[in-house]
Amino acid sequence: MGMPELPEVETVVRGLARRITGFRIASVRLSRKDILFGHNLPINKVLSRRRIQRVNRQGKQIHFILGSDLSLIVHLGMTGRLFVADRDDPKDPHTHLRIQFVRRQTELRFCDPRRFGGLWLIDGAAHQKRKWIGRKLPALGPDALDISLRNFRKLLRRNRQIKGLLLDQQLIAGVGNIYCDESLHRVGIHPLTRACDLDDSTVRRLHQKLRQVLAEAIRDRGSSVSDYRTADKNRGKFQRRHRVYKRAGQPCKRCHNLIERILVSGRGTHICPKCQPLFAITSEQG
Ligand SMILES: [Zn+2]
Repeated sequence: MGMPELPEVETVVRGLARRITGFRIASVRLSRKDILFGHNLPINKVLSRRRIQRVNRQGKQIHFILGSDLSLIVHLGMTGRLFVADRDDPKDPHTHLRIQFVRRQTELRFCDPRRFGGLWLIDGAAHQKRKWIGRKLPALGPDALDISLRNFRKLLRRNRQIKGLLLDQQLIAGVGNIYCDESLHRVGIHPLTRACDLDDSTVRRLHQKLRQVLAEAIRDRGSSVSDYRTADKNRGKFQRRHRVYKRAGQPCKRCHNLIERILVSGRGTHICPKCQPLFAITSEQG
């Protein structure tokens, strides 16, 4: 199961920004109250007449900026999809949220069959007074796409497995299983390696490759390995360029050794055992 990661969320955000920025909200229909967290405001009342000023991404979160004091934040979780549909389009049975716009035939829909995703209504102005309901919005580290080499180095001084570290959204935001496995393979790092054992030139190359893989995946509009679709309901194309992810048993595109699937902190992890030897000095690979 691949969940939407930085490139997929960025693709959705760009698609939504292009299609609904400036639209004024007419009505909101939330059919599952248990996916809405944050300040306990009546969502329909609070969002009505608000304009979508901007759509931004932070890590894997999608932020709809509805004014200086109000944002709606969406996390797609594992199976969540956020897209623009025609009001008359048939409705997926797992459609939990529909936002209709003033004088528009299109609407924004959020579908999430497995409900690991969620919505947060964040109200800046009344922050102190209102009661918070449900899950807190998780804190995010610097975005993986624009983290500086200096901060990346600092992050990797930790005595922690490199894979677990890169997946920790509080330390670096946006990387999940796909892009972690893909960038570790491109640099020749075994996912069980301790971050603090990587030499400086390896850290440098990981910093560069990680951002390069994310940027290439954004150009390909993400990887569609399961439920992920763009805001226009199209598939991404980057899965065709995966070198290890979901390629167990197939030959490595660099050395022709067979790709293996192992477990690293409970996560299915794809490696080439030859390109990514454990405990080896990894800096000589290109
Ligand atoms: Zn290989």
